[in-house]
Order: sequence, then C-alpha cells, then structure tokens
Amino acid sequence: MSAPSDTQRMEKIVSLCKRRGFVFQSSEIYGGLNGVWDYGPLGVELKRNLKNYWWQVTVHERDDVVGMDGSILTHPAVLRASGHVEGFSDPMIDCRTCKAHLRADQLVEKKGVKQCPNCGGKDLTAPRPFNLMFETHVGAATDESSIAYLRPETAQSIFVQFKNILEVSRKKLPFGIAQIGKAFRNEINPRNFTFRSREFEQMELEYFCRPEQGMELLEYWKKERLKFYENIGIPRSKLHVLTVSDEERAFYSKGTYDIEYDFPFGWQELEGVAYRTDYDLSQHQKASGKSLEYFDEETKQRFVPHVVEPSAGVDRTVLALICEAYSEDQAPDEKGKMETRLVLRFHPRIAPVKCGVFPLLRNNPQLVAKAKEIVDLLRPHMTVFYDESGAIGRRYRRQDEIGTPFGITVDFETLGEKDPALRDTVTLRDRDSMKQERVAIQDLPAILRERLA
Ligand code: ATP
Repeated sequence: MSAPSDTQRMEKIVSLCKRRGFVFQSSEIYGGLNGVWDYGPLGVELKRNLKNYWWQVTVHERDDVVGMDGSILTHPAVLRASGHVEGFSDPMIDCRTCKAHLRADQLVEKKGVKQCPNCGGKDLTAPRPFNLMFETHVGAATDESSIAYLRPETAQSIFVQFKNILEVSRKKLPFGIAQIGKAFRNEINPRNFTFRSREFEQMELEYFCRPEQGMELLEYWKKERLKFYENIGIPRSKLHVLTVSDEERAFYSKGTYDIEYDFPFGWQELEGVAYRTDYDLSQHQKASGKSLEYFDEETKQRFVPHVVEPSAGVDRTVLALICEAYSEDQAPDEKGKMETRLVLRFHPRIAPVKCGVFPLLRNNPQLVAKAKEIVDLLRPHMTVFYDESGAIGRRYRRQDEIGTPFGITVDFETLGEKDPALRDTVTLRDRDSMKQERVAIQDLPAILRERLA
C-alpha cells in the first residue's frame, strides 16, 4: 500500500501531465475511453526520445541485432500456436453487489474473508478466465473464418518472421531481432494512470542463441537493461530485480526476471527479461509445418534456436521517467523571496525540449532578432522553445516545469551595449543548479550537444 504522501505525489504528477500537455485521456470530450491515453506535444517528444534511445543502443550500436516492424492485425493461427487464444487470460471475479468486474488478485481480504475493493461486498462470483485479447474481423464477413486479433505483444511477429530475417540478414547465432510497436490487452481493470492501459507500446528484443548460451545471456541482458535505465536517469536504487519463482514462471521459461521501479503507487514491473527456451519457435514450426531451424555451418548441426527476451513497456517507462523527474525545491522569485519551484529533472538525453531561448525584453527588436537567430542556429541540432512573454524568472519556471535542461537569455550585454567584449555572448542557465554562465553564441551548438549526449 502506498503512503498518503505518495498518493498526493501521484495526483500532482497526473495533473501536471494534463496541464502541460504530456498525457490526456483519450476521447476526453466524450467522457473518455477507459484505459486508453493520448500523448500531447511534450509527451510525444519524451516518448520518442525514449524509443529512439532504445533503438540506438539496441539496434544501431550493435552488430548482432536487426530491427523489424510487424503488423498489428494478427492471423489467429499465430496466436493459437503461441498459446494466447487458449490461455492469455486473467482470472475474473464479479461483485454481485456493485457489479464491478475484478481481477482475482485485486480482492481485499479482511479477517480471512475476500471482499470487493470498491464496495466491500462479499457476494462474489467464482473466478473464471477472461481472455485479454481484442478480437476483430478482417474483410466483409463477420463469422469465425474472418477473425483476427490485435496483437497482445510484439514478440510473435518476430518469431513468425524469424526465418525470413535470418535469410536476409545472414546473421549467425547469437543474434537478435528488435521491435517497437503497439500492443493491446483488454485489461479487466486498467489503473494507475498509464501504468496498466488497454493500448500501449512495447520495446522488445528476441535474442536467439544456442541452448547452452541461454542462462548466461539471461544474466547478460538483465545487466544491459539495468544499465539502460540508469542511462536515461533512473538510478539503480529505484530499480528492483525480482527473480520470478518456479511456480509463477511460464512453464517453458528456464529463468525470468522482472525489473521493477519504485512508483509512487508501489514497486511495479517495468520490464520482463525471460529465457524462453525454444518454446516459441518450436510451437510455430509445429503449427505451420515450416522449418524454423538454424543450420550451423561449422558443426553442421541443425536445431531450433533458444531465445532470451527483454520486453519493456514504453508507456510504463515514460511514466517512470516522469515520476523520477518530478521534484519540488525552493528558489528565489523575481524579488528574491523564496518560493516553491516545480521542476522535472529529466536526464538531458530524454528531455522533450532541450533548450529555451529568451530575449530579455519582447519590445526590443534587436534583442528579439538576436534570440531568433539563436533559435535558427540551434534548431537543426535539438528541440528549442522560444519564449518572449512575461518576466524572465517566470519564463525559467515554465521551462523548469517541463524539464528543459538549458535556458539561454539574450540581454543588453549580448548587443555589446555595456562591454564590447561581451558582444554576441549570452547567459546559459542550468535547470538543476540554476547557475548561469556567459558563453559565446557561436559556441552554443557544441557546448549543448556535448551536454546532451
Ligand atoms: P503485468 O504483470 O503488469 O500485467 P506482464 O507480465 O503481463 O505485465 P509482459 O507480458 O511481460 O507483461 O509484457 C512486457 C512489458 O509490456 C511489461 O513489462 C510492461 O512494461 C508492458 N505491459 C504489459 N502490459 C501492459 C499494460 N496493460 N499497460 C502498459 N504496459 C504494459
């Protein structure tokens, strides 16, 4: 159970997300669609920075991983073979008093009696499996023959395309196939803001290997993934690795870790890293009748590769990034009086806007022209926000609140009015320390690029 202060913190985060345009409820003007979210102008930048960084380190910076982008609509045979049609379900219980549909693990227990968490009702149905997949129909007919599913994970298209990608990429084991994309699950109870959604994105890597490499690669990928989170500003102390027990693990997995983050609503899973053996490829080989074997040129062996899968949620990581960045401190206002400052301390690498540019006065054409020149100079390299309205301190605060790491102010010294030696220099302000330094305009791209790397 989270402490009350954490509930308050979460409420503030949700409200900031809406107020500043990170996340909105989907179809809000029609009352909203439960478990579905839209990302606003800042949210989309943050999400993109996260996905681009994952792609950079997982695909571009490696020799042994290639990417793909599979379809969302999925042939039912794929999901029959993977076991999803039969078994991708959560146990559901109905409360006969308030009619709520509940996941069995969400019931509360008081004095040994299970109760509805909403109304305290004890008149509950027996649990029954509720399949989480969204079904649809392809083409004009709407009978059994036209059923297709919105994919519940991106992984299956990787397994199904394994042979094609192996052939075109000519990779040797071990090698991986990475994908970022939407997945859909009809969660019984979406909750905790975007944490449990019905439509979400995953960043998945299927790393194929020889059977004897599986356990070692499971450890390797766990470490790599922990490093990734630290590199985007989530410290190791806020991450927990849960070793999934034999009873909880999928029957085909020889080892699974859940990487959890300390959210304001408790420790919750960000990513699963699982050694799935040769289960997936073997299932598809059996069901399709097509060989998904790998031929080892050196040993002349033919076998179905094993796989280690780090599977992360984009939306959950975005939420973790916002929760981690959210902070309040004390800073002086225009008149030097201390006030509470709300600041998102994003790692510069993932911050949605990298730099604010401000002319000291909006009604001075020379200051404005210089500031716009700087915007043009920096735009090819990073996202820049130009702001000329309000007192300079207010403008800094607005950028602090959305996590912009750098602020550039064009003042009279920039115009060389006070000291010719300072002509074409500006103040560069750091969001976290609030320190300001004087730098030459021409040096800005290099200085900022280095600090953003
Ligand atoms: P949970 O136990 O929280 O339902 P899971 O173990 O079913 O998650 P996986 O099937 O391992 O999740 O999916 C991999 C990742 O996809 C998760 O670690 C999570 O980041 C993301 N994910 C899964 N379900 C959702 C969801 N409903 N909303 C947002 N992200 C999700």
